[in-house]
Amino acid sequence: MGGLISAALWLTVAVWAGVCLFRAFWEFLALALRASAQGLGPRTPGTPDPRIPPLGAEPAQRAYWSELLWVDAYTSTRAAASAVRHRLLGRWMAVTARRMFTGRQPSTGYRFDHWIARSVVRLLAPGTALGAITGALLASAVMVLVHLVMWLLAGLVWLAAVAGVAVLRGADRGVALVRGVRMKCPYPGCYRPFPLAVHRCPGCRTAHRELRPGRFGALWHLCSCGRRLTTVSLAGRDRLPVECPHCDRSLPSGIGRLRTVHIPVVGGTSSGKTMLMAAAVAGLHASTGRSALKVEFATADDRRDMVDLNGQLKQSGRVRKTQGGQPRALMLRISHRRSHRLLYLYDPMGESLYDVDSTRRQEYLAHADGVILVVDVLADPRVRRSFSADEEALARAANPSEPGPWETYQTFTGELPGLTGRRRGTRLPLAVVVTKRDVLDRIERLRVPATGIGPWLATIGLDRLVRDLGHRFRTRRYWALSAYAATGTGPLVSEQQRAAEAVLWILSRTGLRVGKLLPEDSESPRAPSGSAAGPPSPSPSVPGPREAPVQDRSTP
Ligand SMILES: [Zn+2]
Ligand SMILES: [Zn+2]
Repeated sequence: MGGLISAALWLTVAVWAGVCLFRAFWEFLALALRASAQGLGPRTPGTPDPRIPPLGAEPAQRAYWSELLWVDAYTSTRAAASAVRHRLLGRWMAVTARRMFTGRQPSTGYRFDHWIARSVVRLLAPGTALGAITGALLASAVMVLVHLVMWLLAGLVWLAAVAGVAVLRGADRGVALVRGVRMKCPYPGCYRPFPLAVHRCPGCRTAHRELRPGRFGALWHLCSCGRRLTTVSLAGRDRLPVECPHCDRSLPSGIGRLRTVHIPVVGGTSSGKTMLMAAAVAGLHASTGRSALKVEFATADDRRDMVDLNGQLKQSGRVRKTQGGQPRALMLRISHRRSHRLLYLYDPMGESLYDVDSTRRQEYLAHADGVILVVDVLADPRVRRSFSADEEALARAANPSEPGPWETYQTFTGELPGLTGRRRGTRLPLAVVVTKRDVLDRIERLRVPATGIGPWLATIGLDRLVRDLGHRFRTRRYWALSAYAATGTGPLVSEQQRAAEAVLWILSRTGLRVGKLLPEDSESPRAPSGSAAGPPSPSPSVPGPREAPVQDRSTP
Protein backbone atom coordinates (compact mmCIF):
# COMPACT_ATOMS: atom_id res chain seq x y z
CA MET A 1 0.00 0.00 0.00
CA GLY A 2 2.83 2.38 1.01
CA GLY A 3 4.61 1.49 -2.22
CA LEU A 4 1.52 2.40 -4.24
CA ILE A 5 1.16 5.79 -2.53
CA SER A 6 4.80 6.64 -3.07
CA ALA A 7 4.54 5.56 -6.71
CA ALA A 8 1.49 7.83 -7.10
CA LEU A 9 3.45 10.70 -5.50
CA TRP A 10 6.40 10.17 -7.82
CA LEU A 11 4.06 10.10 -10.79
CA THR A 12 2.44 13.36 -9.65
CA VAL A 13 5.84 15.04 -9.24
CA ALA A 14 6.95 13.83 -12.66
CA VAL A 15 3.75 15.07 -14.33
CA TRP A 16 3.99 18.35 -12.38
CA ALA A 17 7.55 19.00 -13.59
CA GLY A 18 6.80 17.85 -17.13
CA VAL A 19 3.66 19.95 -17.55
CA CYS A 20 5.30 22.98 -15.95
CA LEU A 21 8.66 22.91 -17.78
CA PHE A 22 7.65 21.56 -21.17
CA ARG A 23 4.24 23.09 -21.60
CA ALA A 24 2.64 25.52 -19.14
CA PHE A 25 5.62 27.85 -18.50
CA TRP A 26 6.28 28.45 -22.20
CA GLU A 27 2.62 28.80 -22.97
CA PHE A 28 2.10 31.42 -20.25
CA LEU A 29 5.30 33.27 -21.14
CA ALA A 30 4.41 33.49 -24.83
CA LEU A 31 0.89 34.55 -23.94
CA ALA A 32 2.04 37.27 -21.53
CA LEU A 33 4.63 38.62 -23.98
CA ARG A 34 2.09 38.76 -26.79
CA ALA A 35 -0.42 40.52 -24.53
CA SER A 36 2.25 43.04 -23.39
CA ALA A 37 3.24 43.80 -26.96
CA GLN A 38 -0.38 44.30 -27.98
CA GLY A 39 -0.87 46.66 -25.04
CA LEU A 40 2.07 48.77 -26.21
CA GLY A 41 1.64 48.63 -29.93
CA PRO A 42 -0.46 51.06 -31.94
CA ARG A 43 -4.00 50.23 -32.67
CA THR A 44 -5.20 49.89 -36.24
CA PRO A 45 -3.66 52.86 -37.98
CA GLY A 46 -6.16 55.56 -38.77
CA THR A 47 -8.66 54.65 -36.07
CA PRO A 48 -8.90 56.78 -32.95
CA ASP A 49 -7.37 55.41 -29.77
CA PRO A 50 -10.09 55.40 -27.11
CA ARG A 51 -7.49 55.85 -24.37
CA ILE A 52 -6.42 59.29 -25.66
CA PRO A 53 -8.46 61.83 -23.71
CA PRO A 54 -10.39 64.42 -25.72
CA LEU A 55 -8.70 67.78 -26.19
CA GLY A 56 -9.25 70.15 -23.28
CA ALA A 57 -9.05 73.92 -23.40
CA GLU A 58 -5.70 73.73 -25.15
CA PRO A 59 -6.15 72.70 -28.78
CA ALA A 60 -2.99 70.61 -28.75
CA GLN A 61 -2.38 66.94 -28.08
CA ARG A 62 -0.54 65.93 -24.94
CA ALA A 63 3.03 64.87 -25.64
CA TYR A 64 3.50 61.08 -25.74
CA TRP A 65 5.90 61.09 -22.80
CA SER A 66 3.67 63.21 -20.61
CA GLU A 67 0.60 61.00 -20.77
CA LEU A 68 0.27 58.20 -23.30
CA LEU A 69 3.59 56.68 -22.27
CA TRP A 70 2.18 55.87 -18.85
CA VAL A 71 -1.17 54.78 -20.24
CA ASP A 72 0.68 52.42 -22.59
CA ALA A 73 2.88 51.00 -19.85
CA TYR A 74 -0.10 50.44 -17.57
CA THR A 75 -2.19 48.87 -20.35
CA SER A 76 0.65 46.55 -21.25
CA THR A 77 1.26 45.35 -17.68
CA ARG A 78 -2.42 44.88 -17.04
CA ALA A 79 -2.93 43.01 -20.31
CA ALA A 80 -0.09 40.58 -19.49
CA ALA A 81 -1.35 39.89 -15.96
CA SER A 82 -4.96 39.40 -16.98
CA ALA A 83 -4.00 37.15 -19.93
CA VAL A 84 -2.06 34.83 -17.57
CA ARG A 85 -4.86 34.81 -15.00
CA HIS A 86 -7.56 34.06 -17.57
CA ARG A 87 -5.62 31.28 -19.20
CA LEU A 88 -4.78 29.65 -15.85
CA LEU A 89 -8.24 29.89 -14.30
CA GLY A 90 -10.05 29.29 -17.55
CA ARG A 91 -8.51 26.79 -19.91
CA TRP A 92 -6.22 25.09 -17.41
CA MET A 93 -8.27 24.92 -14.21
CA ALA A 94 -11.92 25.18 -15.17
CA VAL A 95 -11.58 23.01 -18.27
CA THR A 96 -8.56 20.71 -18.39
CA ALA A 97 -8.03 19.95 -14.69
CA ARG A 98 -11.74 19.69 -13.99
CA ARG A 99 -12.25 17.21 -16.84
CA MET A 100 -9.33 15.15 -15.66
CA PHE A 101 -10.51 15.08 -12.05
CA THR A 102 -13.93 13.88 -13.23
CA GLY A 103 -12.43 11.18 -15.43
CA ARG A 104 -13.04 12.77 -18.80
CA GLN A 105 -10.77 13.24 -21.75
CA PRO A 106 -9.00 16.61 -21.16
CA SER A 107 -9.26 17.92 -24.72
CA THR A 108 -12.79 16.86 -25.69
CA GLY A 109 -14.56 16.39 -22.34
CA TYR A 110 -15.64 12.89 -23.48
CA ARG A 111 -16.17 10.58 -20.50
CA PHE A 112 -14.00 7.44 -20.70
CA ASP A 113 -16.04 4.26 -20.74
CA HIS A 114 -13.49 2.07 -19.06
CA TRP A 115 -12.74 2.53 -15.36
CA ILE A 116 -8.98 2.03 -15.89
CA ALA A 117 -8.81 4.94 -18.30
CA ARG A 118 -10.81 7.07 -15.85
CA SER A 119 -8.43 6.15 -13.00
CA VAL A 120 -5.32 6.96 -15.04
CA VAL A 121 -6.69 10.35 -16.00
CA ARG A 122 -7.63 11.07 -12.35
CA LEU A 123 -4.15 10.01 -11.28
CA LEU A 124 -2.53 12.47 -13.72
CA ALA A 125 -4.87 15.34 -12.75
CA PRO A 126 -3.10 16.73 -9.59
CA GLY A 127 0.29 16.86 -11.35
CA THR A 128 -1.23 18.65 -14.32
CA ALA A 129 -2.99 21.23 -12.13
CA LEU A 130 0.13 21.85 -10.06
CA GLY A 131 2.25 22.09 -13.24
CA ALA A 132 -0.08 24.68 -14.69
CA ILE A 133 -0.06 26.78 -11.50
CA THR A 134 3.72 26.64 -11.18
CA GLY A 135 4.20 27.41 -14.86
CA ALA A 136 1.97 30.46 -14.50
CA LEU A 137 3.88 31.62 -11.41
CA LEU A 138 7.28 31.18 -13.10
CA ALA A 139 6.13 33.01 -16.25
CA SER A 140 4.71 35.79 -14.04
CA ALA A 141 8.05 36.14 -12.26
CA VAL A 142 9.83 36.56 -15.59
CA MET A 143 7.18 39.06 -16.70
CA VAL A 144 7.60 41.08 -13.49
CA LEU A 145 11.28 41.48 -14.34
CA VAL A 146 10.52 42.40 -17.96
CA HIS A 147 7.94 45.00 -16.88
CA LEU A 148 10.21 46.44 -14.20
CA VAL A 149 12.78 47.13 -16.91
CA MET A 150 10.03 48.59 -19.12
CA TRP A 151 8.79 50.94 -16.36
CA LEU A 152 12.36 51.96 -15.62
CA LEU A 153 12.91 52.82 -19.29
CA ALA A 154 9.64 54.75 -19.35
CA GLY A 155 10.79 56.65 -16.27
CA LEU A 156 14.10 57.48 -17.95
CA VAL A 157 12.33 58.71 -21.09
CA TRP A 158 10.06 60.86 -18.92
CA LEU A 159 13.00 62.27 -16.97
CA ALA A 160 14.88 63.06 -20.18
CA ALA A 161 11.80 64.82 -21.59
CA VAL A 162 11.22 66.81 -18.39
CA ALA A 163 14.90 67.79 -18.31
CA GLY A 164 14.65 68.85 -21.97
CA VAL A 165 11.59 70.94 -21.18
CA ALA A 166 13.37 72.57 -18.25
CA VAL A 167 16.44 73.36 -20.38
CA LEU A 168 14.37 74.81 -23.24
CA ARG A 169 12.23 76.88 -20.90
CA GLY A 170 15.29 78.04 -19.01
CA ALA A 171 17.00 79.08 -22.27
CA ASP A 172 13.96 81.11 -23.35
CA ARG A 173 13.61 82.62 -19.91
CA GLY A 174 17.33 83.45 -19.79
CA VAL A 175 17.25 85.18 -23.18
CA ALA A 176 14.16 87.13 -22.10
CA LEU A 177 15.90 88.18 -18.89
CA VAL A 178 19.05 89.27 -20.71
CA ARG A 179 17.01 91.23 -23.23
CA GLY A 180 14.84 92.68 -20.47
CA VAL A 181 11.62 91.38 -22.05
CA ARG A 182 8.60 91.99 -19.83
CA MET A 183 5.38 91.77 -21.78
CA LYS A 184 2.57 94.15 -20.97
CA CYS A 185 -0.75 94.82 -22.60
CA PRO A 186 -0.98 98.16 -24.47
CA TYR A 187 -4.78 98.38 -24.27
CA PRO A 188 -6.87 100.55 -21.96
CA GLY A 189 -8.70 98.71 -19.22
CA CYS A 190 -6.00 96.04 -19.20
CA TYR A 191 -2.35 97.25 -19.24
CA ARG A 192 -1.59 94.04 -17.37
CA PRO A 193 1.69 92.15 -17.49
CA PHE A 194 1.74 88.53 -18.63
CA PRO A 195 4.49 85.92 -18.82
CA LEU A 196 3.21 84.20 -21.96
CA ALA A 197 1.08 85.58 -24.78
CA VAL A 198 -1.70 83.61 -26.49
CA HIS A 199 -0.49 82.32 -29.87
CA ARG A 200 -2.84 81.67 -32.77
CA CYS A 201 -2.30 78.73 -35.08
CA PRO A 202 -1.66 80.21 -38.54
CA GLY A 203 -3.59 77.31 -40.09
CA CYS A 204 -6.85 77.11 -38.15
CA ARG A 205 -6.66 80.30 -36.04
CA THR A 206 -7.34 78.49 -32.75
CA ALA A 207 -5.77 80.03 -29.66
CA HIS A 208 -2.93 78.20 -27.94
CA ARG A 209 -2.64 79.54 -24.40
CA GLU A 210 0.24 77.33 -23.38
CA LEU A 211 2.62 77.43 -26.33
CA ARG A 212 5.86 76.75 -24.50
CA PRO A 213 7.89 73.62 -23.78
CA GLY A 214 5.75 71.50 -21.46
CA ARG A 215 3.22 68.71 -21.23
CA PHE A 216 1.96 69.37 -24.77
CA GLY A 217 5.42 68.88 -26.22
CA ALA A 218 8.96 70.02 -25.64
CA LEU A 219 9.95 71.30 -29.08
CA TRP A 220 6.61 71.69 -30.77
CA HIS A 221 2.89 71.33 -30.09
CA LEU A 222 0.66 69.46 -32.47
CA CYS A 223 -2.38 71.65 -33.14
CA SER A 224 -5.76 69.94 -33.50
CA CYS A 225 -5.58 70.84 -37.19
CA GLY A 226 -2.40 68.79 -37.53
CA ARG A 227 0.03 71.70 -37.83
CA ARG A 228 3.21 71.70 -35.80
CA LEU A 229 3.78 74.91 -33.83
CA THR A 230 7.24 75.51 -32.42
CA THR A 231 7.28 76.20 -28.69
CA VAL A 232 10.66 77.88 -28.45
CA SER A 233 11.03 81.61 -28.81
CA LEU A 234 14.50 81.18 -30.28
CA ALA A 235 13.12 78.80 -32.90
CA GLY A 236 10.59 81.26 -34.29
CA ARG A 237 7.55 81.03 -32.02
CA ASP A 238 7.38 84.84 -31.98
CA ARG A 239 6.51 84.95 -35.65
CA LEU A 240 3.02 83.60 -34.87
CA PRO A 241 0.13 86.05 -34.34
CA VAL A 242 -0.22 86.85 -30.63
CA GLU A 243 -2.90 88.14 -28.27
CA CYS A 244 -3.13 89.36 -24.69
CA PRO A 245 -4.15 86.48 -22.39
CA HIS A 246 -6.23 88.84 -20.24
CA CYS A 247 -8.25 90.79 -22.80
CA ASP A 248 -7.76 88.71 -26.00
CA ARG A 249 -6.83 91.76 -28.08
CA SER A 250 -4.09 91.36 -30.65
CA LEU A 251 -0.52 92.31 -29.84
CA PRO A 252 2.35 93.28 -32.11
CA SER A 253 4.32 90.30 -33.32
CA GLY A 254 7.73 90.04 -31.74
CA ILE A 255 6.46 91.22 -28.36
CA GLY A 256 7.95 88.07 -26.85
CA ARG A 257 11.53 88.91 -27.77
CA LEU A 258 11.68 92.71 -27.61
CA ARG A 259 12.24 94.81 -24.56
CA THR A 260 9.27 97.11 -24.13
CA VAL A 261 9.84 100.76 -23.23
CA HIS A 262 6.81 102.59 -21.84
CA ILE A 263 6.73 106.37 -22.19
CA PRO A 264 3.63 108.29 -21.08
CA VAL A 265 3.26 111.85 -22.34
CA VAL A 266 1.89 113.84 -19.42
CA GLY A 267 0.33 117.29 -19.67
CA GLY A 268 -2.88 119.29 -19.34
CA THR A 269 -5.67 119.42 -21.94
CA SER A 270 -4.55 121.35 -25.08
CA SER A 271 -0.98 121.52 -23.82
CA GLY A 272 0.24 120.03 -27.09
CA LYS A 273 0.78 116.40 -26.05
CA THR A 274 -0.69 114.83 -29.14
CA MET A 275 1.11 117.27 -31.40
CA LEU A 276 4.35 116.44 -29.64
CA MET A 277 3.73 112.74 -30.08
CA ALA A 278 2.97 113.11 -33.77
CA ALA A 279 6.09 115.23 -34.21
CA ALA A 280 8.22 112.73 -32.31
CA VAL A 281 6.98 109.83 -34.41
CA ALA A 282 7.61 111.82 -37.61
CA GLY A 283 11.05 112.78 -36.32
CA LEU A 284 11.89 109.17 -35.46
CA HIS A 285 10.83 108.02 -38.90
CA ALA A 286 12.83 110.84 -40.50
CA SER A 287 16.02 109.79 -38.72
CA THR A 288 15.63 106.25 -40.07
CA GLY A 289 17.35 107.13 -43.31
CA ARG A 290 20.13 109.16 -41.76
CA SER A 291 21.44 106.82 -39.07
CA ALA A 292 21.57 103.23 -37.91
CA LEU A 293 18.16 103.83 -36.33
CA LYS A 294 15.24 101.91 -37.80
CA VAL A 295 11.67 102.76 -36.85
CA GLU A 296 8.47 101.06 -37.94
CA PHE A 297 4.90 100.91 -36.72
CA ALA A 298 4.37 97.79 -34.66
CA THR A 299 0.88 97.09 -36.05
CA ALA A 300 -1.34 98.23 -38.91
CA ASP A 301 -3.57 99.95 -36.31
CA ASP A 302 -0.67 102.15 -35.20
CA ARG A 303 0.04 103.18 -38.76
CA ARG A 304 -3.64 103.97 -39.36
CA ASP A 305 -3.93 105.99 -36.11
CA MET A 306 -0.89 108.02 -37.06
CA VAL A 307 -2.14 108.66 -40.60
CA ASP A 308 -5.47 109.84 -39.12
CA LEU A 309 -3.68 112.11 -36.70
CA ASN A 310 -1.45 113.61 -39.37
CA GLY A 311 -4.53 114.16 -41.53
CA GLN A 312 -6.16 116.16 -38.75
CA LEU A 313 -3.00 118.18 -38.21
CA LYS A 314 -2.62 119.01 -41.89
CA GLN A 315 -6.26 120.03 -42.23
CA SER A 316 -6.80 122.16 -39.17
CA GLY A 317 -3.35 122.74 -37.79
CA ARG A 318 -4.32 121.23 -34.51
CA VAL A 319 -5.64 117.92 -33.27
CA ARG A 320 -8.92 117.08 -31.69
CA LYS A 321 -8.74 116.71 -27.97
CA THR A 322 -7.51 113.28 -26.93
CA GLN A 323 -10.59 111.19 -26.24
CA GLY A 324 -11.39 108.29 -23.98
CA GLY A 325 -10.52 107.60 -20.38
CA GLN A 326 -7.38 105.60 -20.91
CA PRO A 327 -5.17 105.68 -23.98
CA ARG A 328 -4.16 102.78 -26.18
CA ALA A 329 -0.39 102.84 -26.43
CA LEU A 330 0.99 103.80 -29.82
CA MET A 331 3.51 101.08 -30.58
CA LEU A 332 6.70 101.46 -32.58
CA ARG A 333 9.39 98.93 -33.24
CA ILE A 334 12.78 100.60 -32.89
CA SER A 335 16.10 99.05 -33.85
CA HIS A 336 19.55 100.46 -33.55
CA ARG A 337 22.27 98.24 -34.92
CA ARG A 338 21.59 94.95 -33.13
CA SER A 339 19.49 96.30 -30.24
CA HIS A 340 15.75 96.38 -30.49
CA ARG A 341 13.00 97.98 -28.48
CA LEU A 342 9.23 97.97 -28.61
CA LEU A 343 8.16 101.50 -27.76
CA TYR A 344 4.77 102.15 -26.14
CA LEU A 345 3.82 105.84 -26.26
CA TYR A 346 0.81 106.73 -24.12
CA ASP A 347 -1.14 109.91 -24.81
CA PRO A 348 -3.74 110.15 -22.03
CA MET A 349 -6.32 112.89 -22.30
CA GLY A 350 -5.52 115.86 -20.11
CA GLU A 351 -8.62 115.39 -17.94
CA SER A 352 -7.38 112.00 -16.78
CA LEU A 353 -4.71 113.77 -14.75
CA TYR A 354 -7.07 116.31 -13.15
CA ASP A 355 -7.68 114.39 -9.98
CA VAL A 356 -6.24 111.63 -7.88
CA ASP A 357 -8.83 108.98 -8.80
CA SER A 358 -8.52 109.28 -12.54
CA THR A 359 -4.72 109.48 -12.28
CA ARG A 360 -4.72 106.21 -10.36
CA ARG A 361 -6.62 104.59 -13.19
CA GLN A 362 -3.68 105.29 -15.52
CA GLU A 363 -2.13 101.98 -14.49
CA TYR A 364 0.42 102.05 -17.29
CA LEU A 365 2.28 104.71 -15.28
CA ALA A 366 3.30 101.84 -13.01
CA HIS A 367 5.68 100.42 -15.62
CA ALA A 368 6.85 103.68 -17.21
CA ASP A 369 10.52 103.70 -18.22
CA GLY A 370 10.53 107.46 -18.52
CA VAL A 371 8.04 110.30 -18.69
CA ILE A 372 7.64 113.19 -21.10
CA LEU A 373 6.19 116.15 -19.22
CA VAL A 374 4.57 118.69 -21.52
CA VAL A 375 4.71 122.22 -20.13
CA ASP A 376 2.42 124.89 -21.56
CA VAL A 377 4.00 128.00 -20.06
CA LEU A 378 1.10 130.17 -21.23
CA ALA A 379 -1.32 128.30 -18.99
CA ASP A 380 0.43 129.25 -15.78
CA PRO A 381 -1.34 132.06 -13.90
CA ARG A 382 1.95 133.33 -12.44
CA VAL A 383 3.44 133.72 -15.90
CA ARG A 384 0.36 135.49 -17.21
CA ARG A 385 -0.01 137.80 -14.23
CA SER A 386 2.00 140.61 -15.78
CA PHE A 387 0.80 140.23 -19.38
CA SER A 388 -0.25 143.29 -21.32
CA ALA A 389 -3.59 143.19 -23.13
CA ASP A 390 -1.92 142.27 -26.44
CA GLU A 391 0.10 139.52 -24.84
CA GLU A 392 -2.97 138.18 -23.09
CA ALA A 393 -4.77 138.05 -26.43
CA LEU A 394 -1.84 136.17 -27.97
CA ALA A 395 -1.79 133.71 -25.08
CA ARG A 396 -5.54 133.15 -25.30
CA ALA A 397 -5.35 132.56 -29.03
CA ALA A 398 -2.82 129.81 -28.35
CA ASN A 399 -5.51 127.89 -26.48
CA PRO A 400 -3.75 127.55 -23.12
CA SER A 401 -3.98 124.22 -21.42
CA GLU A 402 -6.30 123.39 -18.60
CA PRO A 403 -5.12 123.02 -15.82
CA GLY A 404 -1.74 124.79 -15.70
CA PRO A 405 1.56 122.91 -15.79
CA TRP A 406 2.16 123.15 -12.04
CA GLU A 407 -1.23 121.65 -11.13
CA THR A 408 -0.85 118.83 -13.67
CA TYR A 409 2.62 118.12 -12.41
CA GLN A 410 1.47 118.04 -8.79
CA THR A 411 -1.36 115.56 -9.40
CA PHE A 412 0.90 113.38 -11.49
CA THR A 413 3.86 113.33 -9.10
CA GLY A 414 1.54 112.89 -6.13
CA GLU A 415 0.32 109.57 -7.52
CA LEU A 416 3.51 108.41 -9.23
CA PRO A 417 5.28 106.91 -6.17
CA GLY A 418 2.12 104.94 -5.33
CA LEU A 419 2.04 103.47 -8.85
CA THR A 420 5.73 102.85 -9.49
CA GLY A 421 7.17 102.50 -6.00
CA ARG A 422 9.02 105.38 -4.39
CA ARG A 423 12.54 104.41 -5.39
CA ARG A 424 11.74 103.66 -9.03
CA GLY A 425 9.79 106.91 -9.24
CA THR A 426 12.81 109.07 -8.54
CA ARG A 427 14.97 107.13 -10.99
CA LEU A 428 12.63 107.70 -13.93
CA PRO A 429 14.18 109.93 -16.56
CA LEU A 430 11.97 112.97 -17.11
CA ALA A 431 11.97 114.81 -20.42
CA VAL A 432 10.46 118.26 -19.98
CA VAL A 433 9.14 119.68 -23.25
CA VAL A 434 8.00 123.30 -23.37
CA THR A 435 5.42 123.58 -26.15
CA LYS A 436 4.02 126.52 -28.18
CA ARG A 437 7.47 128.03 -28.53
CA ASP A 438 6.35 130.01 -31.59
CA VAL A 439 3.91 131.98 -29.42
CA LEU A 440 6.41 132.39 -26.58
CA ASP A 441 8.90 133.89 -29.01
CA ARG A 442 6.42 136.62 -29.90
CA ILE A 443 6.22 137.76 -26.30
CA GLU A 444 9.44 139.63 -25.57
CA ARG A 445 9.70 138.60 -21.93
CA LEU A 446 9.11 134.89 -22.69
CA ARG A 447 11.54 134.40 -25.55
CA VAL A 448 12.95 130.91 -25.23
CA PRO A 449 16.75 130.97 -24.94
CA ALA A 450 18.92 128.71 -27.06
CA THR A 451 20.27 126.95 -24.00
CA GLY A 452 19.38 126.69 -20.34
CA ILE A 453 15.65 126.14 -20.62
CA GLY A 454 15.49 124.91 -17.03
CA PRO A 455 16.87 128.11 -15.46
CA TRP A 456 14.80 130.17 -17.92
CA LEU A 457 11.59 128.47 -16.74
CA ALA A 458 12.53 129.43 -13.17
CA THR A 459 12.99 133.09 -14.11
CA ILE A 460 9.61 133.46 -15.84
CA GLY A 461 7.58 132.26 -12.85
CA LEU A 462 7.78 128.46 -12.91
CA ASP A 463 10.47 128.33 -10.21
CA ARG A 464 8.33 126.02 -8.02
CA LEU A 465 8.09 123.51 -10.85
CA VAL A 466 11.80 123.61 -11.67
CA ARG A 467 12.78 123.30 -8.02
CA ASP A 468 10.47 120.37 -7.40
CA LEU A 469 11.64 118.63 -10.58
CA GLY A 470 15.19 118.96 -9.29
CA HIS A 471 14.26 117.26 -6.05
CA ARG A 472 12.14 114.51 -7.47
CA PHE A 473 13.80 113.39 -10.66
CA ARG A 474 17.48 112.64 -10.71
CA THR A 475 17.72 112.63 -14.50
CA ARG A 476 15.89 115.28 -16.45
CA ARG A 477 16.39 117.21 -19.64
CA TYR A 478 14.58 120.12 -21.29
CA TRP A 479 13.39 120.82 -24.81
CA ALA A 480 11.25 123.54 -26.38
CA LEU A 481 9.02 123.00 -29.36
CA SER A 482 6.74 125.05 -31.60
CA ALA A 483 3.04 124.26 -31.75
CA TYR A 484 3.42 123.51 -35.45
CA ALA A 485 6.15 120.94 -35.10
CA ALA A 486 3.99 118.14 -36.34
CA THR A 487 2.11 119.74 -39.22
CA GLY A 488 4.83 118.88 -41.65
CA THR A 489 3.80 121.72 -44.00
CA GLY A 490 7.29 123.11 -44.31
CA PRO A 491 10.89 122.57 -43.43
CA LEU A 492 10.12 121.45 -39.92
CA VAL A 493 12.59 118.65 -39.85
CA SER A 494 14.55 120.20 -37.01
CA GLU A 495 11.42 120.66 -34.89
CA GLN A 496 10.40 117.04 -35.39
CA GLN A 497 13.90 115.94 -34.70
CA ARG A 498 13.85 117.80 -31.42
CA ALA A 499 10.57 116.11 -30.49
CA ALA A 500 12.12 112.76 -31.36
CA GLU A 501 15.15 113.61 -29.22
CA ALA A 502 13.03 113.53 -26.08
CA VAL A 503 11.97 109.98 -26.93
CA LEU A 504 15.46 108.93 -28.01
CA TRP A 505 16.91 110.32 -24.80
CA ILE A 506 14.60 108.13 -22.69
CA LEU A 507 15.38 105.18 -24.98
CA SER A 508 19.09 105.80 -24.45
CA ARG A 509 18.48 105.53 -20.70
CA THR A 510 17.19 101.98 -21.27
CA GLY A 511 20.48 100.90 -22.80
CA LEU A 512 19.74 101.55 -26.47
CA ARG A 513 22.92 103.19 -27.79
CA VAL A 514 21.33 106.14 -29.50
CA GLY A 515 23.22 108.76 -27.45
CA LYS A 516 25.13 109.79 -30.57
CA LEU A 517 21.90 110.86 -32.22
CA LEU A 518 21.29 113.34 -29.41
CA PRO A 519 22.96 116.71 -29.22
CA GLU A 520 25.60 116.97 -26.55
CA ASP A 521 24.59 117.89 -23.08
CA SER A 522 25.39 121.53 -22.42
CA GLU A 523 27.34 120.40 -19.37
CA SER A 524 29.91 118.88 -21.64
CA PRO A 525 31.76 121.21 -24.03
CA ARG A 526 29.32 122.26 -26.72
CA ALA A 527 29.87 122.25 -30.40
CA PRO A 528 30.40 125.86 -31.52
CA SER A 529 27.33 125.92 -33.73
CA GLY A 530 24.64 123.61 -34.96
CA SER A 531 23.62 120.50 -33.18
CA ALA A 532 24.89 116.99 -33.21
CA ALA A 533 21.52 115.87 -34.41
CA GLY A 534 22.09 115.93 -38.11
CA PRO A 535 22.44 118.53 -40.83
CA PRO A 536 22.10 122.25 -40.09
CA SER A 537 18.50 122.97 -39.35
CA PRO A 538 16.65 124.77 -42.06
CA SER A 539 14.75 127.89 -41.17
CA PRO A 540 11.50 126.82 -39.54
CA SER A 541 8.38 128.12 -41.15
CA VAL A 542 6.75 128.82 -37.85
CA PRO A 543 5.14 132.19 -37.45
CA GLY A 544 7.17 134.54 -35.31
CA PRO A 545 9.87 137.14 -35.41
CA ARG A 546 12.77 134.75 -35.13
CA GLU A 547 14.92 134.72 -38.26
CA ALA A 548 17.78 132.43 -37.38
CA PRO A 549 17.19 128.70 -37.18
CA VAL A 550 16.72 127.53 -33.68
CA GLN A 551 19.69 125.64 -32.40
CA ASP A 552 19.22 122.66 -30.20
CA ARG A 553 17.75 123.62 -26.90
CA SER A 554 18.48 120.70 -24.75
CA THR A 555 19.99 121.42 -21.40
CA PRO A 556 20.43 119.17 -18.44
ZN1 LIG B 1 -4.23 74.65 -36.10
ZN1 LIG C 1 -4.80 92.97 -22.34
